[in-house]
Amino acid sequence: MTLYRDDGIVLRTQKLGEADRIITLLTRGHGRVRAVARGVRRTKSKFGARLEPFSHVDVQFFSRGSTLVGRSLPLCTQTEGISPYGQNIVTDYGRYTAGTAMLETAERFTDHEGEPNVQQYLLLVGGLRTLAAGSHAPGLVLDAFLLRSLAVGGYAPSFADCARCGLPGPNRFFSVAAGGSICVDCRVPGSVVPSSEALLLLGALLTGDWATADAAEARHVREGNGLVSAYLHWHLERGLRSLRFVREA
Ligand SMILES: [Zn+2]
Repeated sequence: MTLYRDDGIVLRTQKLGEADRIITLLTRGHGRVRAVARGVRRTKSKFGARLEPFSHVDVQFFSRGSTLVGRSLPLCTQTEGISPYGQNIVTDYGRYTAGTAMLETAERFTDHEGEPNVQQYLLLVGGLRTLAAGSHAPGLVLDAFLLRSLAVGGYAPSFADCARCGLPGPNRFFSVAAGGSICVDCRVPGSVVPSSEALLLLGALLTGDWATADAAEARHVREGNGLVSAYLHWHLERGLRSLRFVREA
């Protein structure tokens, strides 16, 4: 029997029996964790309210054995709220749809339960904090998060230098399959020719240059959205439901 603490972001919750929930969290030290919270649906307890999606919490887990897949799930025995980001996210449609796509992506990018992924965890905390603060357009916050998640996963796209031969950018062509920007000699069938402004925007989102990103025109933001979405879907086997929802909204 082990008792351990960790802090994490609540990714989603599922009903379990009459009054309990299974909580899925992305934690700092243990990666993605599923745990049972007992009695949280019976009353409007503070315990239950803290374990809602988008919440940043400090949790005490009680495990009766291995936390690896196939063993009984650990229990959440105590929680302390760190930041209830959900309060400023669920009340705004744009923030809510962008935030939901961020939670889903974070789950998809952490395939294995119990395997630490500190970089992905820090990206999610930072992304939700920015989203909740409302200082940048939700679609830009989402795209910045998606691009950085791809980079952390080892799929960093190039938006300037040629992804194949390294020719210094800007380069005219773009191919999802080739890894981003490519030069005229390396272009492959299906390459597209994005506007230089859209590539500049995506580069700014990847590096955190918000002054450039915030100044982008709506049409370049839309074009950038499309490239990020195509790039993400190339690397994930199936599309993200809520991501498509954001695009259609
Ligand atoms: Zn090249």
